[in-house]
Parts: sequence; structure tokens; C-alpha cells
Amino acid sequence: MSYFKTLARSFSYALAAFGVISASEADMTLKRALNPLQGGQISPTPIDVQKLCFESLRKISGTFDKERLHRACQFAKVLPGCQSTLGEPIFYFEKLASSSNSAKKILTMSLIHGDETSSGTVSRSWISRLVDLDSRNSWRVIPIVNPDGFKANTRTNANKVDVNRNFPTANWESQAIARWKRSKNSDPRRYPGPSPASEKETQCLLKHFSDFQPDFIISVHTPLGILDFDGPKHLSFPKFSPLPWISLGNYPGSLGRYMWKDRQVPVLTIELKGSEGISRLEEFDRLQDISGTVAIQSDRYLRSKNRRQKPKTKKVQSEARNQARPESVSGT
Ligand SMILES: [Zn+2]
Repeated sequence: MSYFKTLARSFSYALAAFGVISASEADMTLKRALNPLQGGQISPTPIDVQKLCFESLRKISGTFDKERLHRACQFAKVLPGCQSTLGEPIFYFEKLASSSNSAKKILTMSLIHGDETSSGTVSRSWISRLVDLDSRNSWRVIPIVNPDGFKANTRTNANKVDVNRNFPTANWESQAIARWKRSKNSDPRRYPGPSPASEKETQCLLKHFSDFQPDFIISVHTPLGILDFDGPKHLSFPKFSPLPWISLGNYPGSLGRYMWKDRQVPVLTIELKGSEGISRLEEFDRLQDISGTVAIQSDRYLRSKNRRQKPKTKKVQSEARNQARPESVSGT
């Protein structure tokens, strides 16, 4: 152990011994200090982030193109302050549309639940594809929202909080804890946290929402094997045979509740079936193109709905008629 590590260990345990911090806080302080990509005060260098991106994503099983992933990871970045509870950087990849006229901004995330490993296959496949593609939309992808849960293979983060129940929804204070106790029997896997947005991982996502201002959000999970959409209901959803469209509703503190119900930004939840679900790269490509299509349709619908509330013009009337028209499924 290096001199620095020995010093960090002695110091954190001395603080605990003198009662300045608790033993568990001492343990947490030590873990942060020993993290090679230590969050804390030091920002990771781009090389660190590239390496972290490639080394983390290659651990997820399934088919992928190593060389393309390597190239995609060269564009990995971290927003200031975006670290996990234990100080691991939460990296992202971004590819802007070549023409910005009608492009939508789509934010994709996976592994908000750290034990849903195969949800990371979607992000890995999409960033590897985007690196060589002229895309019709602008994409930002956060492959591992909950790196501590991913490492420990737990649904929750290092504070044992379900990050997807920790968003500061309008009904969090009044309902999150009560509903967790009542309908989930205080299931520890679904604990919403001590207060809204108490978790570093949630705070990081809030930074992304304000930095990227997404028009559409995609969150990837396992294992229900469906596509669940929190957004306008009257769209013509393109068929994707491996995963049917089924609406599940949402919870206090969940992403769908926070972005769609409270903010009118549609959220598509992709629930894979697990590692036996979609596996071929063509299926991932098609799923991405379908998602891009639903993003465009949703935006068109919401814009025409907003305009309908203002005095009508011929142009607005024809847009309203076209709002549910299926978009071609290509080009992401
Ligand atoms: Zn999940």
C-alpha cells in the first residue's frame, strides 16, 4: 500500500476513533480515498474516463464490436460533479445530429439499477453505432448511472437507495415513503431514500436534464420484456416483435413521473427480457431507430397540441392532422 493510502486509512480511522465520524462513515471515506478514479476533489483526466468507459462496458456480456466501442469511448466525458456515492465518475457519450433543423435531443440511460447488467448492452451497442453514423437526432447516452450498484451487483446504490424512486417528483414528500411501505411492504430494494434527490446519482441525472435539455428520454431496464411509454398516448407506435408495447404506470420518485407527469418530457422505458432477450446487433439497431421515431412523433404531437391551444391557422390544422402519421423507421 502506498504512503498516501496508508495515510488515508490512518486518518479516517483516527476520525472515527475520536468520534468525529462514525465507523461506517470512516469506511466510506476510506473507499473514496482508495478509488483510483477518486471523485472527491480531483476531476478524472480524459484518459481515465476513456479507460473507465471501455473497461466497464466490455465486462457486460453479449455481442459487441471491440474496435468501435474503443473508438466510442474516446468521446466519453463526465459532467462536473457527476460521481457516484463512492466517488466513481458517471461518464456519458454524446453525438449531435448533423443537421439541427428538426433533430430531437434524446437522453438514454441504463443501469440505474446496478444488477440489471444486460440493460447496459443497449447503451453499449448504441454508442458503438453512433460513433460512425450521421444521425437524424442528437443523442446523449449514460451507460452506467449507478456504477457502485453495477460493481456490487445490487439494484440500489451504495446508500441502499433505489435511484429510480429518488427523483424529486411533486408527490415525493407526500407519497414516496408511504407508498413504499404500503404497496411494497418496505421492500429494501425499492427504498426511495431519506429525501427527494438525496443521492449523488440522482443529482447527476438532474445536472444532465438541465445541461442537455432533452426532448425525449429512454431508460433501459430488465427483465419484464416490454416497451413502456410515459408520454402522449395517441401515437402510432412502430412494432418491435421481441418487446410488445405495454403501459405500466409510474411511482412517486420515478423517472417517468418526474419527467413526463411533472415536466411533459416523454419517457420510453425499455424492459429487456434479460440476457436471453434481444441479442443480435440488428435488433439493437432497429430498437434505436424505433426509439428515435417515437421521439420525433411525440415532439410533433406535443408541439401541435400546444399550438392548438392558441388561435388556429391552416398550417397548425394540417400539422394536427399529421401528428399521428407514422414516421419512417430509419436513421436513428
Ligand atoms: Zn430496473
